[in-house]
Amino acid sequence: MESRWLTLGFTSGALATLGALVVAAPARAATLQYWWFDAQTNQLVFTTDSQVQPRAQLLVNPTRIVVDLPNTQLGNTNASQTVGGAVREVRAGQFDRQTARLVIELAPGYSLNPQDVRVQGVRPNQWAVQLPTLSQGTAPASGALPAPTATANRVQGNTGTGAGSILSGVVTTGDGFLIRLSGTAPTPTVQITSDDADNRFAIIDLPNTAVAGNLRPDDLPNYRYSILAWDVAQQPTNPPSTRITLRLGPTSPDWRALRNNSGVIVLPPSGVPISSIADEPVPLAAAPRTPPPAQAAPPQPQTPSPTPTPPPTRAVEPPALPTVPNGRVVVAIDPGHGGRDPGAVGINSLQEIQVIFPISLRVTELLEAQGVTVVMTRRDNVTVDLQARADTANRAQANLFVSIHANAISMSRPDVNGIESYYSSETGRRLAATLQASMLAATGMRDRGVKQARFYVLRQTTMPAALLEVGFVTGAQDAPKLADPAWRETMAQAIARGILQYIQQGL
Ligand code: ZN
Repeated sequence: MESRWLTLGFTSGALATLGALVVAAPARAATLQYWWFDAQTNQLVFTTDSQVQPRAQLLVNPTRIVVDLPNTQLGNTNASQTVGGAVREVRAGQFDRQTARLVIELAPGYSLNPQDVRVQGVRPNQWAVQLPTLSQGTAPASGALPAPTATANRVQGNTGTGAGSILSGVVTTGDGFLIRLSGTAPTPTVQITSDDADNRFAIIDLPNTAVAGNLRPDDLPNYRYSILAWDVAQQPTNPPSTRITLRLGPTSPDWRALRNNSGVIVLPPSGVPISSIADEPVPLAAAPRTPPPAQAAPPQPQTPSPTPTPPPTRAVEPPALPTVPNGRVVVAIDPGHGGRDPGAVGINSLQEIQVIFPISLRVTELLEAQGVTVVMTRRDNVTVDLQARADTANRAQANLFVSIHANAISMSRPDVNGIESYYSSETGRRLAATLQASMLAATGMRDRGVKQARFYVLRQTTMPAALLEVGFVTGAQDAPKLADPAWRETMAQAIARGILQYIQQGL
């Protein structure tokens, strides 16, 4: 367990209070009388029966802010408060005989800049811990990939201290990009990933690297070469590490990151000469300065459905699956993620791949048992790029193609739940609609509709194709279901049933 002390930001009023406290430190033990976290204002308020001098620190794994009250006993307060959104939970306990402790635990995927936390003395016995607006976008400690959403340059968490090297800027050169560092340059790693909406990202991790406190988004390259946006995020690890996420334009090659002989890090393109890469056209409208809260795939805002969600209609014993003539029908099943790309991460660190891989394998089993020939785009948890997956289905001359995903949106939107199905060409519409109806009937989950979207695997496959989002790993209603093997069996049955119904209705 790693920790480092917060740089506390005191207001001027609090400073005066604090000065008085240091002079007149309480001799007798205080009692924590009351505390409450207000999700609207992102503020923890607590009171004691006499003066205290709280100390705050940031801990990771999981990321949490710990507020210690020396010489304080825990009174008859509530033990914990479930908050939801960026803050998972706040709890109170007796850390040791002299110290009461309040813990603000963040939801997975969230982090904050310690310098943005304000500990403010309201009165000598009342304090407020003000958190900044919390954002996602840094890697969970597990190393799983985030769902990067940046559409504009962004710099996060930069303290400029505590690491072997400090990133002070990025320069565009005739060979690519150069990352300006002071101190000992780290050994970088690069991962190329993509999300469900075909956005591609290069994720460059720099261990033991902090980001200069004065680095601003405007200091980063702006639409140079084929990069749409840069996201530089210092991670709350000890020592700090830094993740640079490049949002790649549609014609971008992959990128590499190398530490060269003179101890600087350069980013050359992979496999193509730099001369073949054009700058991205700068949009006519000003680029948005803040990223959208949602993952790129579903742009619809979640509004309450005018008709109430019907109650679950799931039968205890699902009726037998229809059969099809042996071997004459070929179905391509595409587990949407695998290998280096585990997909989205949601509540309780639930990863998309943990949901969709077992479902995909089970759908395959169920279909094969009914006489369908199934080609999977991957049978194992390995990385397969989008084109290779389409190629597998096309080469096998599959009759239909089903890509299986779980959805995600910002961790601050646990209210967004439900199932949606996508198609690209008209031939996929009936398949998507049949599968959506089957999933809804089996699970009673919220219906987010059948929608058209130009997902790569839908565009590049030559047969009727659908992409399923079986629920939200970030949804308060959905996530516990998605984590439940019994629900996954129900969902696999529903998808298999829908595919068989589609086949029976005529290919
Ligand atoms: Zn996915």
